[in-house]
Amino acid sequence: MLTAVIALAGLGLLGSLGLAIAARVFAVETDPRAEEIEEVLPGANCGACGKPGCFDLAREIARGNADIDACPVGGEKAAKAIGKIMGIDFSGGGERYVALVLCAGDNKEALKKYQYNGIYDCVSVDMFFGGDKACSYGCLGLGTCAGACPFGAIDILPEGIAKVDSDKCTGCGKCIEACPKGIIKLVPAGRNVHILCSSHDKGAAAKKKCRVACIGCQKCVKAAPEGAIHMDDFLAVINYDAEIPESVAGECPMGTIKVFKTEDSAGQETAGGGS
Ligand code: SF4
Ligand code: SF4
Repeated sequence: MLTAVIALAGLGLLGSLGLAIAARVFAVETDPRAEEIEEVLPGANCGACGKPGCFDLAREIARGNADIDACPVGGEKAAKAIGKIMGIDFSGGGERYVALVLCAGDNKEALKKYQYNGIYDCVSVDMFFGGDKACSYGCLGLGTCAGACPFGAIDILPEGIAKVDSDKCTGCGKCIEACPKGIIKLVPAGRNVHILCSSHDKGAAAKKKCRVACIGCQKCVKAAPEGAIHMDDFLAVINYDAEIPESVAGECPMGTIKVFKTEDSAGQETAGGGS
């Protein structure tokens, strides 16, 4: 019995010694700046920077493998604080981008082709003939994007369409990855003329399916400064680098062009639905 106890104690001692040696041999040196940087990051662990979590980004910044403004959520404030830790002068951030849902075809404007009673999820409904909407390009309105947004910046309106609150949006892009229709885009905040349609159907077909569809008439292209709006396969598309006068919206016979500031979420509702 005594021998067994001594043997067990010996084994335990050997094990602890082995662990202690392994801890020394395999120890990973952490740059103390990584911990300081982690403290000034927002702690959202949203992955918007392309890293699995905030500490992973902090470590990469401390190693010099990532920029001090790599966190889109922390923005300029975090970049300045990280710059102080790293001894780098942060000379100011670029333009803020926010998400925008390029569809205004809510349940009042767009036709449905069948009644869906399945799982409440856009990816699921999309698997049944491209969704329940007659327009196969439109917002499905079941909020997969809202579920993916780490900042609660997307609501599904009672009319069955997704709308981004640009005050809350950090431009992380999670909603863009989640939307099976690929109709959410990042646009520079503060722009006020938007074409809220993603349909590439020809004019007559688009009009039959949705009352606010782009019919590809090109009136906006002609009314806007050169290069500010172009056609892409029957769909008018805004060039967000260009200045577009609000009067261009009045040229659209379908009301597809909306005027609202992407920073002004209240303005989106008064602009006639959509996102
Ligand atoms: S924008 Fe896309 S993900 Fe969001 S509700 Fe519409 S279809 Fe679904
Ligand atoms: S709306 Fe989209 S881009 Fe904006 S914070 Fe939410 S997931 Fe990120």
